Amino acid sequence: MSELSTQLIHHPYRPPEGFDAVAPAVHKASTVIFPNVHALRTQEWIDKSGYTYGLHGTPTTYTLEERIATVEGGRYCVLAPSGLSAVTLVDMAFLRQGDELLIPDNAYGPNKSFANGELAAWGISHRYYDAQDPEDLAAKISGKTRLVWLEAAGSITLEYPDLPGLVAVVRDANAQRGEGDRKVITALDNTWGAGIAFNAFDLGIDVSMQALTKYPSGGADVLMGSVVTRDEQLHKQVLLTHMRLGLNVSGNDTELVLRGLSSMLLRYQVQDASTRALAAWMQTQPGVSKVLHPSLPDSPGHANWKRDATGAACLFSAVFDAALSQTQIDAFCDRLQCFKLGWSWAGPISLCAPYNIAGIRTQEWPHKGGLVRFAVGLESVADLQSDLAQALAGLTT
Ligand SMILES: *Cc1c(COP(=O)(O)O)cnc(C)c1O
Repeated sequence: MSELSTQLIHHPYRPPEGFDAVAPAVHKASTVIFPNVHALRTQEWIDKSGYTYGLHGTPTTYTLEERIATVEGGRYCVLAPSGLSAVTLVDMAFLRQGDELLIPDNAYGPNKSFANGELAAWGISHRYYDAQDPEDLAAKISGKTRLVWLEAAGSITLEYPDLPGLVAVVRDANAQRGEGDRKVITALDNTWGAGIAFNAFDLGIDVSMQALTKYPSGGADVLMGSVVTRDEQLHKQVLLTHMRLGLNVSGNDTELVLRGLSSMLLRYQVQDASTRALAAWMQTQPGVSKVLHPSLPDSPGHANWKRDATGAACLFSAVFDAALSQTQIDAFCDRLQCFKLGWSWAGPISLCAPYNIAGIRTQEWPHKGGLVRFAVGLESVADLQSDLAQALAGLTT
């Protein structure tokens, strides 16, 4: 080792052991070095007993996985590069040609797009069910059904489903299947609850997926997803598909989520309180015909939410009077100063976006007026309310 090029790579210096900091270390690797050939041949990757290759995990990703599993009350966690890739990972892990998938009509839109696109092309069919009606789910489960997606609250329109009722329907369907038959698996998009509003596993749900992009990160600057399970077999199935697909998250992104995670509970509580206040106020404003938020008594599924959840996240939607045109509603959004136009939520900045619900649902949408969804950030409630007030004032002048 006399040449400088070699010395720079194989330098003998090792920092002393015992460095202890508040933040977990950020480990990064494609290659992981084995101490000998025996270890290279025998080290397992599937049970986290060691390290084999960057794609199979580092101390940093293992740490985040353990913490997310803890938050959600699960035992195992797999990380994916985005929330959406966690959705499609669950689909690919459990669905085979000839299977049928059931999705709530009010599910996160790209979940439905994947079913319409790739899954349909691969011979996997899907149907939409009314998440507010467990009997509709019961009627749609067939011998072909393999996976049922759940989402609480529903995407954009925030209906809160009877999760125990929906899980009971699946349990009854499974009870009728024979010993060797494949069972129906329930998977929840738990991004809204974030493991804080309720415990998915105590409700009997098999798989909990989350967009870590939202609450755990909290910074609007990183994309990541997670799939948490309590059952070891289900976890292994997800992990094998994850490995074969080559999904990876970067050490730097993992660090950002670990950093955000320590303040997640506090952020959730503050944004929840701000959102309830703004939703209740918005309901009293002229030009607004209905506000959708699970804490409001006339919002769909309010009784389910009151029974099963303790938090209500940071989203509410306003349906405007039918007399107001889309152009007027768009102008209202453009007038907002604190609320910026953009996708996502649970970040520091408040956001809004207009939606055409009738165009994205199969079930009939009961409202005539346009809808705007608001994601409340960490700004002061008083400032957010004045912002909404000045933008609403423009609707009537
Ligand atoms: C944002 C979101 C996702 C997808 O997360 P990305 O990280 O943006 O891919 C999935 N489900 C819900 C409910 C979401 O809000």
